[in-house]
Amino acid sequence: MDGKVLHSKPAVEVTADSDPRSLVDWLLERFADRRTLMTSAFGMEGCALIDIIAARARRFTVAYLDTWFFFPETHDLIARLKDRYQNVDFVNRGTSLTPQQQADLHGDELWKREPDLCCRLRKVLPMAEVMKDVDVWVTGLRRSQSAGRAALQVAEWDWQYDVLKVNPLARWDRKDVWEYVQEHDVPYNVLHEQGYPSIGCTHCTRAVPGATLTDYSRNGRWAGQGKSECGLHGYGI
Ligand code: SF4
Repeated sequence: MDGKVLHSKPAVEVTADSDPRSLVDWLLERFADRRTLMTSAFGMEGCALIDIIAARARRFTVAYLDTWFFFPETHDLIARLKDRYQNVDFVNRGTSLTPQQQADLHGDELWKREPDLCCRLRKVLPMAEVMKDVDVWVTGLRRSQSAGRAALQVAEWDWQYDVLKVNPLARWDRKDVWEYVQEHDVPYNVLHEQGYPSIGCTHCTRAVPGATLTDYSRNGRWAGQGKSECGLHGYGI
């Protein structure tokens, strides 16, 4: 898709190589009459994209899936984001399955024994409920986050949830994200300063020794379990 005009009729004309800010302008104009929703787990990328959208949209919704296993620092970040972006509705669409109910059904510490099933129960299935009411799904995914995400397109069909998925940050690397965050004083998770490049559930996220704010890797996610994705984005888990 590189170099090809995605849509020529709207006033905002972009290509897949356009700057994320222009892509968000295009997104908001092109899909103004569609049910458009961003989801985020509030990594640095998501925070940057929220800032970009909030600066351009009259109102926008960001849905997130509270797995019941967020770090306290993540809850703190969500509170700061809500305070900062008054035109963004942050909606928790996480599972109602309590950790105790999960343990009763599947045994203790499912994340250690069957992390794919745990992610399915706490992330993939709740996201399916979210996507029932969505036409255009906006994410902060980037190509350089992992080998599995290298083929990510700015706009692509998501076969798992049957929606159009738009990834305005696809071409940015972590340094671009960090520069944007600094320039715009965007709130971010303080765990990034403590060696956590990517942040998910407490049970399955570790610091990566030596990682700085401009480093990204998924080595701290499900370390030692042969898994690097939760399954939300259709990439191999
Ligand atoms: S990241 Fe870990 S704790 Fe969270 S849903 Fe997946 S397996 Fe369960």
